[in-house]
Amino acid sequence: MHDQLPPLLKQYFGYDTFRPLQSEIIAATMSGKDVVAILPTGAGKSLTFQLPALAEDGVTLVVSPLIALMKDQVDSLTASGVPATFLNSSLAPSEARDRAESLSRGEYKLLYAAPERVMNPGFIADLKRWNIKRIAVDEAHCISEWGHDFRPEYRQLAKLRTHLPGVPFLALTATATPKVREDISRQLQMQDPVRFLASFNRANLSYSILPKSKPARQVFEFVHSRREESGIIYLQSRKATEAMAATLKAEGINAIAYHAGLDPATRAKNQEAFIRDEARIVCATVAFGMGINKPDVRYVIHADLPKNIEGYYQETGRAGRDGLPSECLLLYSRGDLIRNLRFLEDATDLEAKKIAEGQMRQMADFAETTSCRRTALLAYFGETWPDENCGGCDSCLNPREEYDATLQVQKLLSCIIRAKQAAGFSTGVNHIAQVITGANTAKVRDYGHDKISTYGIGADTPREEWAALGRQLIQLGLIEASQDNFQTLNISKKGANVLKSREKTLLTRLPFSNSPNASAKLSRSGSIPCDEELFESMRSLRKTIADEKSVPPYVIFGDNPLRHMARRYPQTKTDFLNVPGVGTQKLDDYGQAFMEEIKSHLASHEKQSFAPLKTPLPPKMKTEGALNGSVLETLNQFKAGKTIPQIAKTREMATGTIAGHLASAIANGDITPDPRQFFSEEEEQRIEAAVATAEEGLAKLAPIHATLNGEIRYEILKLYATFKSLETPA
Ligand code: ADP
Ligand code: ZN
Repeated sequence: MHDQLPPLLKQYFGYDTFRPLQSEIIAATMSGKDVVAILPTGAGKSLTFQLPALAEDGVTLVVSPLIALMKDQVDSLTASGVPATFLNSSLAPSEARDRAESLSRGEYKLLYAAPERVMNPGFIADLKRWNIKRIAVDEAHCISEWGHDFRPEYRQLAKLRTHLPGVPFLALTATATPKVREDISRQLQMQDPVRFLASFNRANLSYSILPKSKPARQVFEFVHSRREESGIIYLQSRKATEAMAATLKAEGINAIAYHAGLDPATRAKNQEAFIRDEARIVCATVAFGMGINKPDVRYVIHADLPKNIEGYYQETGRAGRDGLPSECLLLYSRGDLIRNLRFLEDATDLEAKKIAEGQMRQMADFAETTSCRRTALLAYFGETWPDENCGGCDSCLNPREEYDATLQVQKLLSCIIRAKQAAGFSTGVNHIAQVITGANTAKVRDYGHDKISTYGIGADTPREEWAALGRQLIQLGLIEASQDNFQTLNISKKGANVLKSREKTLLTRLPFSNSPNASAKLSRSGSIPCDEELFESMRSLRKTIADEKSVPPYVIFGDNPLRHMARRYPQTKTDFLNVPGVGTQKLDDYGQAFMEEIKSHLASHEKQSFAPLKTPLPPKMKTEGALNGSVLETLNQFKAGKTIPQIAKTREMATGTIAGHLASAIANGDITPDPRQFFSEEEEQRIEAAVATAEEGLAKLAPIHATLNGEIRYEILKLYATFKSLETPA
């Protein structure tokens, strides 16, 4: 890794560490090789060409399919102090000329452009003068007609190779289909590209499915209980999007519609309103999608059944780009499947019809499964989810099976007893739930319940869950509730026995809240607990600043840095700069305003304290063909020019293991290195001679190793055997 990269990462983007695969991709592209990087949405692909651009001289050309996206990306970079610009048809000729002149003077490190412009002869002549160092092809799946976003103009990009010889390509995409992936390197005429492939698991997304009944009501309840959050609601028809938006609006919720039938101006206006946090919800057909770079979409609801799993994955994937917990809800009815199938009835292409039908049925199977959704989703893309419980889908969070609730029951029963002793009278289930979770309310203090030993002993479990457990124990007769309006709790005889004997209690797990999928919110990976009130006031500040500058709010700060600020309460420049996602430019531009907001908040509020954040586990690598992720990683380093001992060192693995990786890649035909990279001609002759005397030939390496007095290492023998096995026809 180049030494200057970590300081640049901190200075411009405010991060201390790389996300998985980022530094590997950067090293590969900086070595001058062609690279294909396939990582899911939110993995941080942009940084892999932005950072090298800052570290090197010259300009990185970024090919990007959508004009709207380009502007937002350039705005974000500019806000971080990165010299970047774009050229497209939206600019007035004089503005375009100014920018071209600045490029000639070398004032920009990144240039975003649409593919149709890139192929314009005048533009190619300009590119030759601008010292183009690297070509990053964003959304590279647009090059393939197998994909859903095919752009014929992307096909022309390979021609840049002749105009800009020796300039490496870096193709980036989140596409999940193998066919499209292969097409990318072929269409871009890449020579022996280094490929990176991450798991497609989106750890911060939770998946749940509810039986569809009165969908408008279900959607309303869901969005109503998430008042401050942005979301997308996908519906099948244009009419349905407008009806849903109207229903929500009538309920006072700021929703808009988006579909391909709207005129372009309205479409652009609605999209802008969503990105700028003016409309909280978009009710959309699948036409709404790729242009959406909004990082803080907190949920995606499918109110109608998607036509295939690929589409469902892409659409739900628009939630939670920033890595914060986000939810995906699907409302499912068998009727939707039947309706989808009916659309196909008139199809004339029978082959295509059969494929589409199969995909629709797979989608319905997914919705009907009672096992883990994540496992099912990843299996569709050929990945195996290694754990039994994913902790982030309705099947895993609310399995309808028994669990050992002994400890919870003991805690709740003793809390009821202690609370009654302290106050001298019984209280209701919601109050007990507050005491056990350590709520600091006037009532809790007045009753002296903040002094009892069970105060806060259940703080690790959500309040609603305690209340639900209380209601469950009433039904089971362990607790008695008074028959009056107050429904105060007392332990029954049965309950007293359970408490005394410490008897094991098995309970059926309940969905502990009425609001759909509220549970999933609680345990998702990536959550950043913070002072919610301060977070909200900083969000309004962010919106005000963004409006003044006429940029989307996330360009100022994403939710992520704001949540960190609302945990750490930074009040000095140094502390502020330590917030992840704050670089020096943003410190200079916005530090003061946000620190003042924090200061004024603290004038009337106590600082809250938070447990340290768990660092999320790196995503597991995915299996591609016969090679598993670890092999791919070795392979990438080998292709980048490293030797076996060097790879073994950086990966902290035995040289034998690394040689094994290479052997399987050679056997698989993924690399065809020269044997001389591993052993000399003389060594080869020695091995041959030893093999000739060995009883079992190359089938057993130990005798050969012994014959050679251990002078040639096992791993070399292994590689030799691999080369030999390729020589003999199978
Ligand atoms: P992708 O293009 O893969 O969907 P982005 O490039 O938009 O992802 O990045 C997603 C989010 O992750 C952005 O908010 C970005 O600032 C953040 N991010 C990128 N790299 C890092 C890093 N090394 N540490 C923390 N956050 C990062
Ligand atoms: Zn699951």
